[in-house]
Amino acid sequence: MLTISPIRALSDNYIWLIVRNTQGFVVDPGEPGPVLAALEAKEIQLSGILVTHHHFDHTGAVAALKTEAGCEVWGPPDSPAGPYDRTVTEGDTVSVLGVDFSVLNVPGHTLDHIAYYSSTEHALFCGDTLFVGGCGRVFEGTPPQMRGSLEKFRGLPPETLIFCAHEYTLANLRFARLVEPNNDALSAFLNACEAKRANDEPTVPSCISDELACNPFLRWDSPEIRETLAASGKLADDTPDGIFTAVREWKNSA
Ligand code: ZN
Ligand code: FE
Repeated sequence: MLTISPIRALSDNYIWLIVRNTQGFVVDPGEPGPVLAALEAKEIQLSGILVTHHHFDHTGAVAALKTEAGCEVWGPPDSPAGPYDRTVTEGDTVSVLGVDFSVLNVPGHTLDHIAYYSSTEHALFCGDTLFVGGCGRVFEGTPPQMRGSLEKFRGLPPETLIFCAHEYTLANLRFARLVEPNNDALSAFLNACEAKRANDEPTVPSCISDELACNPFLRWDSPEIRETLAASGKLADDTPDGIFTAVREWKNSA
């Protein structure tokens, strides 16, 4: 059994610290200072680093932490921030402190983006692909490619916890209410998340069942989303890819 806790970094990043006894892994370290402080405070030795994609806010501390701890780094192939010590892709497994995480290829936000999933810990480290109530911007891939990546997450068990890399929840859920104003589960979830933020608590992790109920980027089959898009002239292509693309473009300009 692993303990997973957030380390706040940069303006709104979460670096996830995975601990078993006195050993730890971090996921997507963008900044060394907060990681070193957390390791020291908890008397944890860093045993490994997982990278989901090449962006600097996820990799900026990799070199410094590797030098400091002498640990190995796992990450995707053909990554602008690589090469990493261990290159992993879909079908590969990473043993994190004795727990197996399987790797999923989830291109869209970047082409090198991967995610790490453990069925026994019910944990998904999804970087900037899925956020609570939202998804990453499609910088390098195409919207259909991004939807295909999110489709992989839709199929995970509902109790799976979503350890994403940014606290973007309130802005995402407020946008989601524009897209799906009559979704009562969404309104209740937004209220719960607002209460957490008012207490300066993270809203991450959420779980897949919350995301399936509330996240417009997983809800391309919602009749209300289709109606909202059609009523505002945003639905050029009435297919799952077309609906996803229209919601993504709307969010980009919202
Ligand atoms: Zn990113
Ligand atoms: Fe990021």
